[in-house]
Amino acid sequence: MDTASKPSVLQQFRDAYGYPATGAWAAPGRVNLIGEHTDYNGGLCLPVALEQRTLVAVALRTDGVVRVHSRQSDKTYTGPIGDIAAGWAAYPTAVLWSLARRGLPLGGIDLAVDSSVPVGAGLSSSAALTCSVALAVNELHDSPFTRDELVQVCIQAENDGVGAPTGGMDQTIALFARPSTALLLDCLDGSTEPIPFELHGAGYELIVIDTRVKHSLADGQYGLRRSQCIDAAAALGVGSLREASADQAETVRDPILRARARHVVTEIERTRKTAELLRSNRFSDVGELFDNSHASLRDDFEVSCEELDVAVAAARRGGAIGARMTGGGFGGSAIALVPEGSHAEVIASVRRDFAARGWRAPHFLGVVAGGSAARL
Ligand code: ADP
Ligand code: MG
Repeated sequence: MDTASKPSVLQQFRDAYGYPATGAWAAPGRVNLIGEHTDYNGGLCLPVALEQRTLVAVALRTDGVVRVHSRQSDKTYTGPIGDIAAGWAAYPTAVLWSLARRGLPLGGIDLAVDSSVPVGAGLSSSAALTCSVALAVNELHDSPFTRDELVQVCIQAENDGVGAPTGGMDQTIALFARPSTALLLDCLDGSTEPIPFELHGAGYELIVIDTRVKHSLADGQYGLRRSQCIDAAAALGVGSLREASADQAETVRDPILRARARHVVTEIERTRKTAELLRSNRFSDVGELFDNSHASLRDDFEVSCEELDVAVAAARRGGAIGARMTGGGFGGSAIALVPEGSHAEVIASVRRDFAARGWRAPHFLGVVAGGSAARL
């Protein structure tokens, strides 16, 4: 249940540490509308910030001690400033480490974390956590860093501090989102373009289906896909697959690399088209692009799984006009674009198909495109 709020995170801080926090900040989770596995190919993606967010209550200390309490972990980490913790506290402590590396003089800190972003569901609870901490600490030091720099701080925290590969989409949307707007992110140069995302006016709803599964092969397969994309680009003699055309992709000799290249090249084109359709509020044509994106991720990029395929097929049968897996794959979440007022049928259809297979019931989330990280 979404009970994370400013009063509750301030109370959590007081309960954990016995004195009041200086303030509370929040950063949103996100869902990627389309443009999957394109970021590390210099491609395009189109994320939207969720209303669900991670809150952090903060007070600075002067004795070199860091404490982090998370309501989700129900634990308090304590350590010296500069250390990167093991486990979940790696995320906030790696942010402090990254800020310190850039010269921020940090004397210690107490943090209380609460979140309404489902953790580990592919909705980027990790960036919601790193970005809320980074923004809070930055503002408590009179904001020496720009939001662009904080994106880099949070990428570094995940990549080098935690050891989790992340391309920058999650951090960018968390720090630059606007309400009722998606962000077309060009991963070649990091530039962004706001794209109107007015679901309600257009008569549609977007639902997230969290399958609540995460297959353990995900990490190894992610690295393998990245290297296959590099190999495919090399076979074509281009610096990245962003530079390849659809016809060119078909000339890759190795059938696996050809399929990987086909996915990336067609997915970038679908992302471009989706942004174009959204600019003129033509949601009705977006459904087909979602369907094609899913088929491409399933058949050419081979990063889907049975649960995601069942969720997508059941959503379509329940009345969605398009559905696709979102995020890295091998579990996590799918999204379904549904006519306004018909989400109950879509949800029932997915629930039924999961129950019929004896799978754990999925979770559902309605998407409201929210704003960026901010002080509360
Ligand atoms: P995602 O970003 O898709 O939710 P990740 O695996 O990238 O999945 O990040 C999830 C991890 O981030 C969790 O396993 C945990 O270590 C950390 N995390 C995120 N949110 C919280 C939170 N509220 N409290 C504690 N740890 C969190
Ligand atoms: Mg993450």
